[in-house]
Amino acid sequence: MPETQSRQVVVIGGGQSGLAVGYILRRTGLDFEILDANERPGGAWPSAWDSLQLFSPAQWSSLPGWPMPPVPGGGYPGRDHVAAYLAAYEERYQLPVRRPVRVEAVERAGDRLLVRTDAGSWTALAVVSATGGANRTFLPEYPGAEGFRGRQLHSSSYRSPQEFVGQRVLVGGGGNSGAQILAELSLVAEVTWMTPQAPTFLPDEVDGRVLFERATERVRAQQEGRDPGPPRGGLGNIVMVPPVREARDRGALRSVRPFLRFEPDGVVWRDGSRSLVDAVIWCTGFRPALAHLAPLGVLEPDGRVVVRGGRSVREPRLWLVGYGDWTGLASATLAGVTRAARSAVQEIGDTLAATPPANA
Ligand code: FAD
Repeated sequence: MPETQSRQVVVIGGGQSGLAVGYILRRTGLDFEILDANERPGGAWPSAWDSLQLFSPAQWSSLPGWPMPPVPGGGYPGRDHVAAYLAAYEERYQLPVRRPVRVEAVERAGDRLLVRTDAGSWTALAVVSATGGANRTFLPEYPGAEGFRGRQLHSSSYRSPQEFVGQRVLVGGGGNSGAQILAELSLVAEVTWMTPQAPTFLPDEVDGRVLFERATERVRAQQEGRDPGPPRGGLGNIVMVPPVREARDRGALRSVRPFLRFEPDGVVWRDGSRSLVDAVIWCTGFRPALAHLAPLGVLEPDGRVVVRGGRSVREPRLWLVGYGDWTGLASATLAGVTRAARSAVQEIGDTLAATPPANA
């Protein structure tokens, strides 16, 4: 039975969010460890599809301290570039990441939190959950799905268009994943794009840098007690990275509303018409992977945690970083996570400074 280890702070998750928190924690001198379930560095990135492109240039996709190196030959960073950057970042700052360690439960244990894992237990005065959402994919449910003989997969299992050459494919989801996968699939397969509403596209010149600046302006407005109003051009719409622009130019970005139900060899649409379908790729996002927090009683019916500035309202020794706007505007992006990480570490430092030394 491995002994219980003691740290001032335990960070759960060693993706971009956990690393950003680790970098800032290191500068505080607090004793901490990052526990990560993956075998290799990079969080969700190494498992993304082959051609995935960020919607921000490298200089706008950086964690604190060390800018992401530019992409050789220019252009937007791809999956492998980001994964390599995160691995090098971890190494460069000698961040104490222990892997593979899967956290199974966080519980209360007197004045500490007890972090139970598949490799022993840790106690901590503060816990930061930074587990992203890649482990909890969201697939919509449609009647008849059990009898569908084709393939249904989530975008997280999609690798490249090669396995769909010549097939009839439905792509579901009107975000950036859906648009990027549709763009490349439409070159080799017969693709229909399904979105609940007509997708909205950002102007060609708007990239992740502009989105980040808008998010910053919204934070500033909130801090100053002003109503930030609706974001100019929208915050979460589709960024016209080069492959998506190219798909638009050849007329491939048309979308329809989703079908009504599956049949064994296809789907039935709302007007009663039928289509034969070989595969459906759902680009419908992720849900926060927070089951490990259930013993604390902090999970709401929607699976989230009520936070104020990233700190759990029900458990003040718990912070959440990187899950999306509800844990800090743009916190689920490389550029945006620094702000959320800095604020969490600042609060942790203040809280622990007020804790009697006997507990440290
Ligand atoms: P993750 O990268 O998911 O890392 C979480 C880590 O926590 C993983 O290593 C996981 O193993 C670990 N973990 C999970 N549960 C446990 C547990 N119980 N115990 C221990 N460890 C655990 N970002 C951008 O900025 N721009 C983009 O254009 C962009 N496009 C994206 C496209 C796709 C398809 C994907 C998958 C991601 C994209 N991202 C992009 C990144 C995205 O924003 C994710 O939000 C990002 O991966 C989140 O990082 P994270 O560190 O919060 O979570």
